[in-house]
Amino acid sequence: MSERYSRLMQFEFADFSKLKDVRAMVVGIGGLGALTAEIMARVGVGELVLMDYDKLEEANLNRLIYNADQVGMAKVDALKDHLLKANPDVDITTYPYDITDGEGYDSFISEVEKCDIIFGCVDTFQVRLFINSQTVKGRKPLIDGGASNDGINGSVHVVIPGKTACYRCNRPIVDEESEYKPKSDGSGLCHFTSLPTTMAIISSLQCQEGLKHMLGFGEVASYLMYYGMEGRLERYDWKRDPNCPVCGKV
Ligand SMILES: [Zn+2]
Repeated sequence: MSERYSRLMQFEFADFSKLKDVRAMVVGIGGLGALTAEIMARVGVGELVLMDYDKLEEANLNRLIYNADQVGMAKVDALKDHLLKANPDVDITTYPYDITDGEGYDSFISEVEKCDIIFGCVDTFQVRLFINSQTVKGRKPLIDGGASNDGINGSVHVVIPGKTACYRCNRPIVDEESEYKPKSDGSGLCHFTSLPTTMAIISSLQCQEGLKHMLGFGEVASYLMYYGMEGRLERYDWKRDPNCPVCGKV
């Protein structure tokens, strides 16, 4: 074990060396996903899969990780370059596609099968529902993160199929038809504000819960809500819905 991980090896509640056998997917590598991927790379996850169809825009530079000289690159390539500089031992696979369509859809479905854990870092409800239904179907853990449109609050939802409530369980009033529809207006630009501070808090919480699940320490929180205005973090234990159309029969 290289010195790179020596401080992690001193962590008394878990054995970080187990992460070298983990294949983790990060879907959406904007404000949340880029940092989630960076943390996973630095703690020594063996294989990382990055999915995002966007190109890097100047407007993305308020977030962490990306640099001005990378504007115009596919986000997955820009992030891969950065992560390999941070930790060349990580095996990184990139898909510059929309996961709800065509080649992106096929890649996503086959990667759900291969990956041990999926970090959902997307910014639309429909794509969250899509990722949730596919990861439940594939019986893979999903750690979904999101920030509110006003940029100050956020949440982390951990879906362990068959064990914890899925993303759909407590949302019975959802338009079924909208579930698989692509969400982009094609411009690649998001019209909501985004604070790097909130994004860093939420992605760190995603990683923390993901590490607890992967390495088996602590008690995984199924739903965490961060209220930025009050500086408050709340845990909610959602119950599974036995009639949930996504996970009811899992
Ligand atoms: Zn459910």
